[in-house]
Amino acid sequence: MPSSAPEAGRSVDRSAELFARARRVTPGGVNSPVRAFNAVGGTPRFMASAAGPWLTDVDGNEYVDLICSWGPMLLGHAHPEVLEAVAAAAARGTSYGTPTEAEVELAEEIVGRTPVDAVRLVSSGTEATMSAIRLARGFTGRDLVLKFAGCYHGHVDSLLASAGSGLATFAVPGTPGVPADFTQHTMVLPYNDRAAVEAAFAEHGDSIACLITEAAAGNMGMVPPEDGFNRFLQETCSNHGALLVSDEVMTGFRVTRTGRWGLDGAVEGWRPDLMTFGKVMGGGFPAAAFGGRADVMAHLAPEGSVYQAGTLSGNPVAATAGLTTLRLATDAVYDHVDKAARVVREAASAALSEAGVPHVAQADGTMFSVFFTESDDVTAVRDFAEAGRQRADRYAAFFHSMLDQGVYLPPSAFEAWFLSAAHDDRALDRVLSALPAAARAAAAVPDPETAHETKDRDQ
Ligand SMILES: *Cc1c(COP(=O)(O)O)cnc(C)c1O
Repeated sequence: MPSSAPEAGRSVDRSAELFARARRVTPGGVNSPVRAFNAVGGTPRFMASAAGPWLTDVDGNEYVDLICSWGPMLLGHAHPEVLEAVAAAAARGTSYGTPTEAEVELAEEIVGRTPVDAVRLVSSGTEATMSAIRLARGFTGRDLVLKFAGCYHGHVDSLLASAGSGLATFAVPGTPGVPADFTQHTMVLPYNDRAAVEAAFAEHGDSIACLITEAAAGNMGMVPPEDGFNRFLQETCSNHGALLVSDEVMTGFRVTRTGRWGLDGAVEGWRPDLMTFGKVMGGGFPAAAFGGRADVMAHLAPEGSVYQAGTLSGNPVAATAGLTTLRLATDAVYDHVDKAARVVREAASAALSEAGVPHVAQADGTMFSVFFTESDDVTAVRDFAEAGRQRADRYAAFFHSMLDQGVYLPPSAFEAWFLSAAHDDRALDRVLSALPAAARAAAAVPDPETAHETKDRDQ
């Protein structure tokens, strides 16, 4: 465990003790890798409770939460109406293995907000993208899947793929445990690169089942699609009989009321063939969905022949949490999150400029992130290669200074920052007053020439 992290004044004894216990019984001590703080060092904080924009750890330290469970908590933590609905649902029994009214209502809410004709509920974003890909393959009778480097679609075998050695070559497994045979059916292209997409379709157009993309890339830091890029993807897919799968697990019901599609497809008059949702639509519970064109969705069992199932799919408590969250996610909520996100983004950027730290702050709707770039010459980050050229060491120093001052940022430079409708003036003031010292801490990190920079250790 790297121990470079300053823990100035705050006790993290209970977290450290729990982390030691956790590491004895769980690989790395965590149930999802980024939580282990490997990219920033220091002791992962074990949280005990949360309310509104605040997290409280097991040592009693309070933090303004700027990850919101990686997106889901759009309304803030422990929203009273969500809790009440969840408690009432749980009191009626927690799972029946039969259809329920809450599932119908949640599906209607999703169909009402997005361009999909029908949805199938599942329990995680991974399951949603995995199932959407299977459906696209079953519908088209083709095997090949295109994805973009830096876009994350959950830990689906065929999507945990890295770029092969050249343009328009097949992918290689991005992790041990994925047979090369599986990624033989995946091609990885640079994001925002129309020529690469055209080249892949020119060569393999007849075998491509689908192209999957994040509606706006949020898993390499925030990298929005260039103007017209998503529309171009839809047209290119449709010209070749392939499907566009727009992964809105992170952006859905978060970037805008209708998701990222609200910023392009809704305005330009096109829709993806399939979409995936998760995070916000689960209201903090395990719920996700995939949906799309009626003729494609009709291929799903029991109506059609493509198999997909789940014991806890559409779970009544999860569906109630998601439905209640979406019903409370009004235009006023999005306005507030938008403003709060802008305040934090602009203040972070101003503090970093003041301290002389090169950076680029990029936003897409209510989502944004700050790239700690190598120099002031970089004015935009358009793809994974550019996102990778970051001073992760400066971000680690920035992160720990914020943490010590009671602000919880994503523990990796390659993640979006998230706000909620509950981020009020008190929470924002805490963030704003912490930024200058954090920016100075980032500025104080020596350049790699003088101190050998360690490569980003996190995956
Ligand atoms: C989080 C995420 C997933 C995976 O969702 P899980 O619920 O973690 O399995 C898939 N796609 C995108 C774009 C995501 O951000």
